[in-house]
Formats: sequence, C-alpha cells, structure tokens
Amino acid sequence: MTYLGLYALQHRGQESAGIAVSNGESIWVDKGMGLVSSVFNDHRLAALQGNIAIGHTRYSTTGASEWCNAQPVHRCVANVNFALAHNGNLVNTAELAVEADLVSGEIGSDSDLIAELVVREISAANSEDDASLVFEDAFAAVLPQLRGAFSLVVCETNTLIGVRDPNGFRPLFLGRHPNGWILASEMPALDVVGAETVREIEPGEMVIVDGSGVRSRRPFAQETINPTLCSFEFVYFARPDGKLIGQSIYAARRRMGEQLAMQAPVEADLVVPVPESGIPGAQGYAQQSGIPYADGFIKNRYIGRTFIAPTQELRRNAVRIKLNPIEENVAGRRLVVVEDSIIRGTTLRETVHLLRKAGALEVHLRILSPPYRWPCHFGMDTSDRDKLLAAKLSVEEIREYLEVDSLAYLDIDRMLGAITPKRGGLCTACMTGDYPVPVSIHSAKNVLE
Ligand code: SF4
Repeated sequence: MTYLGLYALQHRGQESAGIAVSNGESIWVDKGMGLVSSVFNDHRLAALQGNIAIGHTRYSTTGASEWCNAQPVHRCVANVNFALAHNGNLVNTAELAVEADLVSGEIGSDSDLIAELVVREISAANSEDDASLVFEDAFAAVLPQLRGAFSLVVCETNTLIGVRDPNGFRPLFLGRHPNGWILASEMPALDVVGAETVREIEPGEMVIVDGSGVRSRRPFAQETINPTLCSFEFVYFARPDGKLIGQSIYAARRRMGEQLAMQAPVEADLVVPVPESGIPGAQGYAQQSGIPYADGFIKNRYIGRTFIAPTQELRRNAVRIKLNPIEENVAGRRLVVVEDSIIRGTTLRETVHLLRKAGALEVHLRILSPPYRWPCHFGMDTSDRDKLLAAKLSVEEIREYLEVDSLAYLDIDRMLGAITPKRGGLCTACMTGDYPVPVSIHSAKNVLE
C-alpha cells in the first residue's frame, strides 16, 4: 500500500524514493535514487514485511540530491527505533545545527537534523519507559524548536505519527482503510489504496496512531499557529484530482484561467495549454473567452516534471524530449498559450521556440499566477534569487526574452479569489515577498555543506 501511495505522489519528488517498515520489533528501510518504479521491484518489496510503514519521494530543498540524503531517515537509540519522512524545508537548519554542536558533514539535510535532535532528546531522557512513549515525548519536545515547513510522517516500531508545522505550509491528510489508518500528502494517494479521506491534519497538530486508535496532541504554542498553506500547491504542486482546504485543485486552476481571460483578453484562434498543470487553466480561459481549446503538444508521459530536475543542464535536455508540438493545430494559428508559472524561464523559452518552429503565427502567453520574484524557503527549490527570471527582469523584458507576442500574469487578488472565496490563510511569499515566517540568510540549499 505504501508503494502504491508513493506512485500516486510521484509528482511531488522524483530524485529518490524509499520505504521504511516496522514488524513490531525492528524497522527495515529500503531506498534508492530515482523514480518509485526504478527503485522498487517485486523482489525488494517482498522483503518489506510488517504492519506499519512510511514512504517518501524526494525533491531536494536542503541537502544535495544524493543517496545518503534519500528518505526515510532511520535512527536507533537506546531501545527506540524510528524512521522519519519529511515534506517541506526548515528555515533554521543552520542555527539548530550550531546549537546542537553538529559539525559540518555530520548530517546531510534538514530532515536528518530533525532525526538527530530526536535522538539527543531520547538519550537525555535516559528512560526505562515504554519505547513508544519515550519516542512520542521526545519527538513532541523537538517539534517546537523547528521553524519553517514540515509535514512529517514518522514510524516507531509500534506507532505511526503525523505532524504539520504551525503554518501548515505543506498538506497532510488522515485516511481510513478497512485495515488501518493512513497518512498522506494528498488525497489521491488515499484514493489509490481504497482509503476514505477522513480530514486534513490541522496546522500545528500531531496525530498518533497506535494499537488503541488515533489521538491528537498539540505540541506547539498556540500563538505560533498561523495557517498559511502554500498557494503554489494550487498553481503547480498538487494533483488536480485532489482537494486542499476543501477546495478542488482542478476547479481552482480552471477558475484561474477564467480570471486570466477576463483580466488579459486577446484576439486569437486557439487556446493551448502547456501540459500538464496548464490544462485546467487553459480550459477555463477558453470557456471564458469563447476561443476554442485544443492540444498544442503531445507530452511524453514517461518524462517527469522538468522543473523538478535538479540541475539546469538536466532541465534543458529534458524539455526537448518531453513536449512535441502538434503541427496540425499550431501551424498558421494565433495561439493563447496557458502555463501555470514561470520560475527560471528556460523550459518555457524552449517550448515557445518549438511552437514557432511548428508554424505558430502568434504566441500570446498567459500565466496562471503572478510573477515569481522571491525565493521560496518552504519546500520549493528556489532559494537562489538570481535564478528567478522575474526577480531580474520586468514583465516586458520577460516577454522579449521568451520571444512571445504578448505576456500577462494573473493578478494576486484574482489568483487568491480563484483558490478560495476566503482569500486568506495562504502563503504568497514567492509572489509578494511577504514571508509568514522570518527567513534566515543561512537557509540556502547547501547550508550543511
Ligand atoms: Fe508556496 Fe511560494 Fe510560499 Fe513557497 S513561497 S510556500 S512556493 S507560496
């Protein structure tokens, strides 16, 4: 089931994958570099026997994309054995490492740091109590020291724990299966294993699943609870067949397209999406504008998200094999091309070039989010401002760089209104510079190197 769940969450990270399983006495971890399908096979899965498991697909934000940083992270200390998987990114990694006297090279990532802090807490407790309780208390004691984004799933030999940071930057759901309880980053992972979605874990909530059922703890100070879910989950990260804060991702993206058509209309023959996350928005734009919708590209289904590839060179090579224009639809046409966002712009420039080569007469680019101008420190690998196109160039300069006939970005108010009628409770830092949690200057990806 964990393996199937990871398949459903493959879009969240493609650099490495891993599963940890407890059989009630010890924990076995298997992990490797690459996609879930390339790490696991029948043979490896057969070795993972037990009744509690956690899994992870990695997209690196702190710590290099290397095997040693693949997750789940695993530790044994005293009579406690635990594994941890982390979605998000801490912003006080360097400070915590210094405070804990961890020298360079001792830990490889912010997730590793969390595990190390729990180990120290357990060692200091020096308790003869039940291992599950010792672990739970040690973990709860460490959590308030962490700042930034952390949706965590953790298994001790007899307990499964899930936690969301006080801002709830990254999602985490609780699901019910006839055979047990499930935690997962997105609802589709619960769907694929036949589980019912019970609810989202609340920002600042710790959920403990053990032999007596499910219970909650609140390890964070009440004044630190400030829900600011990442608004980019709606733009780019999350699967469109799920929901967040009660809102359908698909419907939100479609509304963003409708808003964009109202805000930035243009005379054109066809609306085409940049697949895949641009598709619902392009449909919304087409419906609102009355311009027919068509496929502009065939996407190779076996290539991952190019943006998520860890180096510039890999990203550049990947785009050419990922998308191929459909000349039949493109040649001789004035196109509205709908894309979710522009981060570095290299992929999109290449995409526009492919459309021109296929005979597009005009290319009018419409972006379903505002300019991405500020680094994200909460789980998106954009900590280096120099690499963000909109941090360096004006909208007109970006239009020139991408060689499009016109360019428009969705206004922030329209985007927030398209996500939820409440408009609030969302992080918009990468578009507004308004960080919900103060960010240290020492929060670069290589802070531990
Ligand atoms: Fe999401 Fe942007 Fe906030 Fe990062 S800065 S959490 S990408 S909205």
